[in-house]
Amino acid sequence: MYDTIIIGGGPAGLNAALYALRGGMKTLLIEKLFCGGQAATTYEVENYIGFPEPISGPELVMNMEEHVKRFGAQIVDDEVISLELEGDIKTVVCSKEKYSAKTVILCTGATPRTLGLENEDSLRGNGVSYCATCDGAFYRQKIVAVVGGGDTALEDALFLANFTNQVYLIHRRDSFRGAKILADKVLSNEKIVPVYDSIIESINTDDGGVVKSLSLKNIKTDETTTINVNGLFVAIGTKAENGLFKDKIKCDESGYIITDETMKTSIDGVFAAGDIRKKPLRQIITAAADGAVAATSAIDYVLKHS
Ligand code: NAP
Repeated sequence: MYDTIIIGGGPAGLNAALYALRGGMKTLLIEKLFCGGQAATTYEVENYIGFPEPISGPELVMNMEEHVKRFGAQIVDDEVISLELEGDIKTVVCSKEKYSAKTVILCTGATPRTLGLENEDSLRGNGVSYCATCDGAFYRQKIVAVVGGGDTALEDALFLANFTNQVYLIHRRDSFRGAKILADKVLSNEKIVPVYDSIIESINTDDGGVVKSLSLKNIKTDETTTINVNGLFVAIGTKAENGLFKDKIKCDESGYIITDETMKTSIDGVFAAGDIRKKPLRQIITAAADGAVAATSAIDYVLKHS
């Protein structure tokens, strides 16, 4: 029996583990893929205080994992299949094993949203990508497009401009949602061509099924155009990874868990931290901070219930 089981190994889960372990809790962290979450797919992080020079996302999260392991973290690679969260003993059923704990901290994060275009799914990994840092290198000296106007799209466009010949940045409005410092960098990069007020109507392929162009529509003028590209990077935000508990725990209309300021959810002994929470700012630093608060609340809960 664990004092706490943390589900998800991004910055929220890793920092929750650090605080739980330092608080003397018997702690298990379950991660289905590899630790780091979305931060592990970030090219450069330049807003994590304490790192005045940009640090790569993978390096930052490797440091986090190492830090947690130094305090004896038990991390298992397994996929959670189902959760029994009501009552004093929580059960976490994984594909390989079943675990029980007094508390659970949900740090399942969020995953990229899709455009919903007809052939988008079949072209995934074959001209359509949701991770510029993972797949960008395949497009050296090619022409690519990024769709979106938030921090991710701006960062992806800047990253891809390092080695592609041209990057179209397609956004449905005429101003970017992302940070001004990133927007300014994008606008002064001569390889990046902003395409405002536009949506993608179709992803077109050649006879061999390889992406060759995008059909765009300007939503202000209704004008349609075609741009030739070798790849499309979709960066239009994220959706909550809530499949395991959306019917059990109170979530907002978009499926993000509602917590109070102690990270307590609608179920006693269950806490949430990071991008899976309804919150105003999704950043690595706020995810890590949530993890610290959630672990501290779990420690309080265990002390009060023992
Ligand atoms: P986001 O901030 O939600 O932005 C999504 C963008 O995609 C918006 O510009 C939105 O347009 C556009 N969009 C949404 N649905 C669309 C659709 N169906 N078709 C076309 N465009 C669509 O998402 P994000 O950029 O992934 O960022 C997520 C969170 O992570 C944010 O809180 C962000 O600040 C944070 N983040 C931070 C950093 C950093 O600090 N370095 C890096 C990456 C991400 P509208 O603007 O018109 O709504």
